[in-house]
Amino acid sequence: MQFAILKDRRLLSRSIASDSALQTTEKIQQKAEVFDSSLSIDIPVEKNESTEIADELLASSSSFEKEPSPRKLIPRKYLDIEELWCSHHDGDRVESVFGNVVLKKKSLCLLQGSNWLDDIVIDAALEALCIENEDWNNVSAQYGTLWFHKGRFTSRNNDWVTARFMKPVVTMINTGAHWVFLAIDVTNAEVFIYDPLGREKTIAPTITTNLTFFQKFHNMKLHQPNSSYEDAKVVMYSHNVQKDSHSCGPLSLMAAQQYMKNEFQEFREASTDCNAIRIAIGNMLLRHCDEENLDEFCVHCSKTTSRSTAWYACDQCCRWIHESCSPEPAEKEQFLCKHCTI
Ligand SMILES: [Zn+2]
Ligand SMILES: [Zn+2]
Repeated sequence: MQFAILKDRRLLSRSIASDSALQTTEKIQQKAEVFDSSLSIDIPVEKNESTEIADELLASSSSFEKEPSPRKLIPRKYLDIEELWCSHHDGDRVESVFGNVVLKKKSLCLLQGSNWLDDIVIDAALEALCIENEDWNNVSAQYGTLWFHKGRFTSRNNDWVTARFMKPVVTMINTGAHWVFLAIDVTNAEVFIYDPLGREKTIAPTITTNLTFFQKFHNMKLHQPNSSYEDAKVVMYSHNVQKDSHSCGPLSLMAAQQYMKNEFQEFREASTDCNAIRIAIGNMLLRHCDEENLDEFCVHCSKTTSRSTAWYACDQCCRWIHESCSPEPAEKEQFLCKHCTI
């Protein structure tokens, strides 16, 4: 079991602490650590010169107790989405963190098989694509869907809109349990639509009408004076259509990636192996994970902060757990988090 509480990052190993063959100096160091962590492992140490050193260690370490400790960064276990899908850890484990994205295993598992992708995965994937291609900004699917449902721009946040729309924007529209990819170059009044079901011409008038309303609502200036979205340039390509009821998310994300890289013309297949697309999206979402930020999330409560400043590390998955979230782990030979306890 690894345990960290002090500023100097010393870790306690219970298995080592129980080894009677340890050298005296190691025992002294452990005793200091046991003290630091307020655990009650009894290690006999003879009173000698080394003991005095230990007393000094105890005294110096106690001065750190008021501050939370940085914990040792543990390398992430899952770098491959298929391995993560096969893991026994439950769905509440946070598995990837980057930007404003916090992804739990259950969200990443939506990329499996024939699941329909929800807003969380769609937004995370668009954010990852925009990290990989800085020519674009993304806005959430919840916001993007406003451009399909007329007349819902009820709050004016011009600063946010102005900042966000400095670059062309990508988003997804939920037309009713169905994802459609939308790219908007605001200042040039140009719109690209990809509907996996091939209904671009049907939905385009609704989108341009709403964009006109959006432009006027936010007093957005276009590059060409006197032009508006009423005569926006709408770009759409012919493509094969989705054959099932669940692949709109992966197909729309694939279209997004290709359009953002100016490679959309090569995209023709709606009958493409969607499982391969799903795996590629999952690996992209894991690849962008900030390991340092991930390690700030308690593997039990999925929160980053707690009244407790002490953390335990799971002996199996090596992820960190708040002391307050793990009942008496010090009493066990091996400490396993709830995800690793079968
Ligand atoms: Zn916790
Ligand atoms: Zn674990």
